[in-house]
Formats: sequence, structure tokens, C-alpha cells
Amino acid sequence: MGGMSLSLNLSGLKSEPQEEVVERELIVIGGGPAGLTAGLYAGRAQLSPLIIVGQSFGGQAGTTSEMENYPGFPEGIGGMALAEQMATHATRFGAEIGYEEVVSVNLKSYPFVIKTYGATYIAKSLILCTGTSPRKLGVPGEAKFIGRGVSFCATCDGYFYKDKTVVVVGGGDSALDEGLYLTRFAREVIIVHRRDKLRAGVILQKRAKANPKIRFVWNSVVEEVLGDDVVTGVRLRDVVTGEGSTIAADGMFIYVGLIPNTQVFQGQLDLNPEGYIVTDKRQRTSIPGVFAAGDVQDPWFRQVVVAAGAGAAAAIEAERFLAEKAYEDAEAVETE
Ligand code: NAP
Repeated sequence: MGGMSLSLNLSGLKSEPQEEVVERELIVIGGGPAGLTAGLYAGRAQLSPLIIVGQSFGGQAGTTSEMENYPGFPEGIGGMALAEQMATHATRFGAEIGYEEVVSVNLKSYPFVIKTYGATYIAKSLILCTGTSPRKLGVPGEAKFIGRGVSFCATCDGYFYKDKTVVVVGGGDSALDEGLYLTRFAREVIIVHRRDKLRAGVILQKRAKANPKIRFVWNSVVEEVLGDDVVTGVRLRDVVTGEGSTIAADGMFIYVGLIPNTQVFQGQLDLNPEGYIVTDKRQRTSIPGVFAAGDVQDPWFRQVVVAAGAGAAAAIEAERFLAEKAYEDAEAVETE
């Protein structure tokens, strides 16, 4: 570990176990394309960054089957394969990846304090790249059948639906992209969309409409996921006619948008009304020394290449912040 480590008894009681407190110049929270790129740039700037990624790196990009729009890969590349390359690249230049969950951050004191289940970190600068999580439908049966027919990741679970029928919910790029991926395995992919127009880009629309395994159900919402031990179907409602219907299916993949992972930052820095972190053009948040990059601060583009670029920019800004801070601190000591 590149940071300075010291033992602190946080409770003040001698009998309590000593908790490790690790000091770092820079900590990146989040291991998607933004976080891994920030780690790469900070590593090359000799900041020995720690990238705290949770259980695994990759973020939403890591769950994407095939990425055809990341420059440099004209034949496309799997989302996880790309994330692995990014992680290898970052660690080659001195970044360390920490597989632990952040449970709290304190941005109101300086240096900043980050707690995980196992350790307490103190950092002079932070880059927040916690990304987004899939939005849930919130209908009966959804939570009960997660892992038993309800999934948010075709790349992870598609293989289990060989020659089966699956429902995909949503009309955006993810629904179509992952719906197309599911046709590799499934006998039929039924895309249920709440309107009669897709939000997805034209290329994906054309491909999905041309695929003989894909059928669209328009103007419809899922009202309930049906089943006993596993999913056996979904109950739909036509939002125009109000009529109900049931489709037999072995699984349901949900792609109805994303929500920002900003719960641990709430009340500590500026978020927009949808909960995304507000940054300026230089990836600065409302707190000096705290930067943000990637989907957690970008509800507009949400592209891997944009996230990676923002991660690089955030690391460059963090490096400048730390250099200026070190200079100011040295001057303050001299004038004392
Ligand atoms: P999205 O673009 O926000 O689309 C969400 C879809 O779910 C919309 O069609 C929306 O319907 C529908 N929806 C939302 N809430 C719903 C609900 N409660 N019940 C039923 N349907 C609901 O999300 P996404 O497809 O996950 O894409 C996220 C971002 O990643 C986008 O910016 C996208 O361009 C990007 N992305 C790009 C690619 C690519 O470039 N190949 C691939 C994947 C993702 P309405 O249309 O009626 O609002």
C-alpha cells in the first residue's frame, strides 16, 4: 500500500480493537471508466492513488455486452474486457485498487475522511466516480424474483435463457442493445415499452426491428412479475386502452434508466434535483479538493468515452489542487 499507515484508537478505549487509518494524497471512489482513468492519470502524476471500487471494477460499462463506440476498437469490445484493460493500465502506473465498500464520507472536515467496512482513509483530495445503478420498476414480484428470473444484466445472466422466452422492459439504448444480445440465447425476446416510439438511437432501432427473434409490445407497462419459485410470466397493462394482458416468459430484463449513486454524499456537496453531483467545466464540485467524473455527474451523455475523458480531467485538476495546496502550506510555515 502506497499510503502512510498509522493505528488510531477511534473510540478512545484501550480495550477496543485498533482500526487502521491510512493517509493518502488522493483517493478515487468508483471503479468504472471514469474512476479507472482518473486512477491512471493520478498514478502517472506520482500521486499513488487508491481507487476504491466496491466488490469489482467496471461499473455499468462492465455489464455491457458489446461496446461498438469506444474509439480504437473498430470491431467492438466487451465492456468488462475494456474495464480490465483500464484497470491493468492504471495499476501499471502506480494506482492501487481497493475492493471494499465505502460506508461513509466526511467532506465537511479537511483532510477528507472515508470509511469502509475495514478501514478509515484520510485524503487530501477526492475524485468521486460512483456512477449510476439501474432503476427498478417497483412492481410486485420484481424484488422477489431478482436472481430467479428478474435481471438487470444480460451479459451476466443471458446464458441461462437458452431457447427460452424473455421480456425486456424499456425503450432506450440499453434495452435494445441488451435485447439484441439476448437473441444469441433466447428463442424470443419481447421488448415491452411504455410508449409507441423508442428512445434508443437509430442504428439500434433498425437492428432490433430487423431481428426476427425480437417482438415489440408498445404502449405497455409491467404491472406484476408472475411466478412461484421462478418467473413464469408478466402481467401487462396497455396504457392507451387500459386493458390488461399476460405474457408467458421465463425471465425479465429491466432497462428503464439509471439513478446516480450519491446517497453517501447527500447533504455534503451540491447535487442537482435528480441527485447528480454538480460540477463545473473543470470537474470541480462545490467543495474545494473534491472532484467528480463520469455518470455520477453526467445525466446528458452517459458514454464511456465521455466518462473516461472526465476522469482524466478530474485527475489533472486534483493534481493542480494538491500542488497549489502544498505550495500554500509551505508558505504558511515559512511566515510563521
Ligand atoms: P434511458 O436512455 O434513460 O432509457 C430508459 C428507458 O426506460 C426509456 O425508454 C424510458 O421510457 C423507459 N422507462 C423509464 N422509466 C420507466 C418505467 N418506470 N416503466 C417503464 N419504462 C420506463 O436509459 P438507458 O437505455 O439505460 O441508457 C442510459 C444512457 O446510456 C443513455 O444516455 C444511453 O444513450 C447510454 N447508452 C448508450 C449505449 C450505446 O451507445 N450503444 C448503450 C447503452 C446505454 P421513455 O422513453 O418513455 O422515457
